[in-house]
Amino acid sequence: MLESQPGPGGRAGQIREQGFTFDTGPSLITMPQLLDELFQVAGTTAAQLRMHRLEPFYSIRWRDDPRSFAFSSDQEAMLEEIGRFSATDASRYLAFLDHSRAIYEKAILAAGRRPFLSVLDVVGLVPEMVRLGALRSVEHFVASFFREAHVRQAFSFHPLFIGGDPFRVPAVYAALAYLQIDSGVWYSEGGVYALVKALAQLVGAGGRIRLGTRVDRVLLNSGRVSGVRTIEGEILPADVVVSNGDVVATRRLLAGADPRRDERLSMSCFLLYLGTRRQFPQLAHHTLLVGHDYPGFIRAVTRRGQLGASASLYLHAPVRTEPAMAPAGGDAISVLLPVPNLSSQLDWEQAEAMVREMVLEAMEAESGLGLSGLRDSIVMERVWTPIDFRDRLGAARGNAFGPEPTLLQSAYFRQPNRSRRVAGLYHVGQGTHPGAGIPGVLLGAEVTSRLVLEEVASWR
Ligand SMILES: Cc1cc2nc3c(=O)[nH]c(=O)nc-3n(C[C@H](O)[C@H](O)[C@H](O)COP(=O)(O)OP(=O)(O)OC[C@H]3O[C@@H](n4cnc5c(N)ncnc54)[C@H](O)[C@@H]3O)c2cc1C
Repeated sequence: MLESQPGPGGRAGQIREQGFTFDTGPSLITMPQLLDELFQVAGTTAAQLRMHRLEPFYSIRWRDDPRSFAFSSDQEAMLEEIGRFSATDASRYLAFLDHSRAIYEKAILAAGRRPFLSVLDVVGLVPEMVRLGALRSVEHFVASFFREAHVRQAFSFHPLFIGGDPFRVPAVYAALAYLQIDSGVWYSEGGVYALVKALAQLVGAGGRIRLGTRVDRVLLNSGRVSGVRTIEGEILPADVVVSNGDVVATRRLLAGADPRRDERLSMSCFLLYLGTRRQFPQLAHHTLLVGHDYPGFIRAVTRRGQLGASASLYLHAPVRTEPAMAPAGGDAISVLLPVPNLSSQLDWEQAEAMVREMVLEAMEAESGLGLSGLRDSIVMERVWTPIDFRDRLGAARGNAFGPEPTLLQSAYFRQPNRSRRVAGLYHVGQGTHPGAGIPGVLLGAEVTSRLVLEEVASWR
């Protein structure tokens, strides 16, 4: 395994400084059963990971409403939460769960575990998806159950975690809310990076990870891969190459052998990691702040290449569950603001300070999160912009979540796990089927490894 960065993890990296510890990317672990399965297949257990189920999962807050919504898997508690916004919507919760469960089982569990190598694979799935209403937008699907605006937002924001615009991506992704309700939202002690370390150990037990080794060419011989070349010019022969790199960037490494048109790439993120000398009990372990004009914000970021006028934020503050993530009495807070990728004209050298200001304002304002005194309590701070996604992780146009998970960039239409154009080339990671998120990447790795084993078996 060749990794260009000095440490493993990619988007799931870690920052440790002055006693503060931050996961740089993912922070919610869902479908933990996939991790158990993976460790079992490798002949060990995930016991070394100390996992905690979070209840509630997160607190949703709004700038235009003083109420908050504690999202959880507890049915009674959820009925009560929805009921505080709309009694009629609460009466539709069980129907929403039933419909979402059917989509989850067919479109995520079953389809996520198999490759879409032929167009027939997708044709077979369409009637079922139409029947389940899974092809209209997530927003449309959610609105068919819930009328109240805040309730709709609470059940439709989930695709944002995989780079999808809830107003456009298919309702297949509405099942992400059900997935969390079904198997919970989890935290691993030490953060998601504890999981990265456990996985790196697994790979190291049967293989070798070479860190700080960037691949700059996939070598071909008569239309078939023959190995890779590193940026230092070292040539490593191989019968099969599996790329975990960005799918658009990987295409560039093939020197024209895969002329597929570049995908429409997902948004990027502005990430702020704040170490503070005091704690902010107003924050839950996970908090979402929905800004004014949320639809306008999403449209600006995903379609117009602009920063939204009023920030919608996601915050991770793990000290509530694991005090050791910050020095005694302090908080380690990661903040995510969705921003356009580098297809937009934004100049990040100029924009960074202004965007930081916008984020801190939303956190401190009484009508925002009300964290008064936040600025004065900051003792360390790191910022990631789309430039970091591009330069550190090799993400085309600094995208955060790979190709946007629209209908025409999902399943058969997504970069296939086994290349249709270059023999011996495979893909894993968020750019291939089924897509982004820790569960998506784990399911996709299973699909790809089966395809590789199938090919290797055919050589005998
Ligand atoms: C801010 C953020 C928050 C998120 N939150 C969540 C969450 O809470 N829960 C969740 O489930 N998902 C979340 N996601 C999504 C999830 O993190 C990603 O989908 C997943 O981590 C992507 O994994 P990957 O292996 O595809 O890509 P990466 O993690 O980027 O791995 C690709 C690796 O390839 C390396 N590489 C690239 N090009 C080369 C090359 N040429 N040579 C050598 N190495 C190369 C990179 O350095 C990198 O290490 C989040 C994503 C982001 C960005």
